[in-house]
Amino acid sequence: MEVLKSYLHGAWHAGAGNGVPLYNPTTEDVLATTSTQGLDFGAALQFARRVGGSALRTMSFTERGACLAAASKAVHAHRESLIELAIANGGNTRSDAKFDIDGGTGTMMFYASLGRKLGEQTFLQDAPLQALGRAPRFVGAQASVPLRGVSVHLNAFNFPVWGLMEKAAVALLAGVPVMTKPATPTALLSYRVMQILVEADVLPPGALQFVAGEPGDILDHVKPGDCVAFTGSSKTGRFVRSLEHLQNASVRVNIEADSLNAAVLGPDVAPDGATFDMFCREVVHEMTQKAGQKCTAIRRIFVPIERVDDVVAELRELLAETVVGNPATRGVKVGPLTNAAQLSSVSAGIDRLRTHTEVVYGGDGRGELRDIDHDRGFFVQPTLFLADSPTHTGVHADEVFGPVATVLPYSGDPLDAASHIALGGGGLVASIFSDDVQFCSTVFQEAAACNGRMYLGSERIAEHATGHGVVLPQLQHGGPGRAGGGSELGGPQGLEFYLQRVALQGSKPMLEKILGN
Ligand code: NAP
Repeated sequence: MEVLKSYLHGAWHAGAGNGVPLYNPTTEDVLATTSTQGLDFGAALQFARRVGGSALRTMSFTERGACLAAASKAVHAHRESLIELAIANGGNTRSDAKFDIDGGTGTMMFYASLGRKLGEQTFLQDAPLQALGRAPRFVGAQASVPLRGVSVHLNAFNFPVWGLMEKAAVALLAGVPVMTKPATPTALLSYRVMQILVEADVLPPGALQFVAGEPGDILDHVKPGDCVAFTGSSKTGRFVRSLEHLQNASVRVNIEADSLNAAVLGPDVAPDGATFDMFCREVVHEMTQKAGQKCTAIRRIFVPIERVDDVVAELRELLAETVVGNPATRGVKVGPLTNAAQLSSVSAGIDRLRTHTEVVYGGDGRGELRDIDHDRGFFVQPTLFLADSPTHTGVHADEVFGPVATVLPYSGDPLDAASHIALGGGGLVASIFSDDVQFCSTVFQEAAACNGRMYLGSERIAEHATGHGVVLPQLQHGGPGRAGGGSELGGPQGLEFYLQRVALQGSKPMLEKILGN
């Protein structure tokens, strides 16, 4: 049985005790155990500040970018074995696994190339020198310098590679060391990524440390100058945000939480066109990729009343073609949920939605499974509900983190669409599928402030677009309200969380020398 270890102050450490089991969700076999009991997180965070931070701050953006490029290539070189592990520990299909792994290496490579562009400087100059007084020799400028502390990254179970790599890429490029902690249930894959990075020896000592499993007292050791980037449920996010010692120390906390993402069909979209097809395929893809365990998954599907029958018929057909079963088997599109706790939470969520909506597909426990000859495994059948009103409070409040979504009939008015989107209390992404520019523009203007991203699906991009659920490093990821209020990525803007902006005033020659102008 594999025992996971944490990578702290330059060495691997196993925690005490029997540890927590990590499962294969298809068979319920235990794959590994992990424990963080007795590990000295305080000393490890201090090691990051003292050793990792000092090393990163002396490096230029080009040099940090080169480390990221080497790290990304090292992980990519093990892509096949990582896919196998994602199937085993995550219940991912090959396609789900690639989405996570390639997303992680691709995002890190994006920030590697940003490092090249930012060049030989070790910090950023935000604004050019400007005269501040009557005499031109008294000038001012602004710079953004790396925080002197450590960034603690707490990640969700559904993206064990992408979560680790996207957060680490941004912090390391900014010049801030990282302590990364994957969610325990799928930590095996993140552990392997960390082993690859340690073996590749591409990062300075102390730049990246790794907690294999439960958080223990890690947040108790966070100090002024450190920062915390969290991804996970709203409940844990609220807990992290509420920690008094973090507030007292003005520690920056970025929360990426859950979200009841929406997709809206415009009234202009006829059932026989490319936009309709795109809408239905996107909904089913978002419902079923990673068994619906995606923060960006579409949960609320707004359809003009007169199109509801067409949409439900098409979604049912597409869902019926979506094979559920052994994620290692070719042709299977939906694997199991991650663990027993997720299965029980999703089953309870389905039961809650069932009380005030109609089941129009699924809702029948495990359903029919391909290539599974036992009654184990955390399977749930993709389930589609139909509400009779677009304002059902349960649908707008309950994140059922599995292959589950609800069709909500609405008037077709863009102002109604926007106000229904807002009922989710703030989301990561909302999609509008329409070829009517005026409709899209009105929904955008009215709903933009309650979303982190808006995706406009139309006939013109049907062949080219990346899709509703794909988070791209060029654009920000995060959303207001329920989605946590955080913001990550967004190209160079992502660095801001890890940098302190400082105004600098003095003589022109002095500032020119310091800023390298
Ligand atoms: P979770 O239970 O909230 O856990 C998230 C992370 O926080 C895990 O690493 C967890 O560690 C850690 N954690 C839990 N309690 C903690 C504490 N007291 N102190 C420090 N860390 C603590 O979420 P999850 O079940 O892994 O993920 C699913 C949720 O994440 C869904 O709601 C989904 O919508 C959301 N999500 C959001 C995004 C986004 O970008 N907005 C992306 C992915 C997922 P342990 O696993 O060891 O408990």
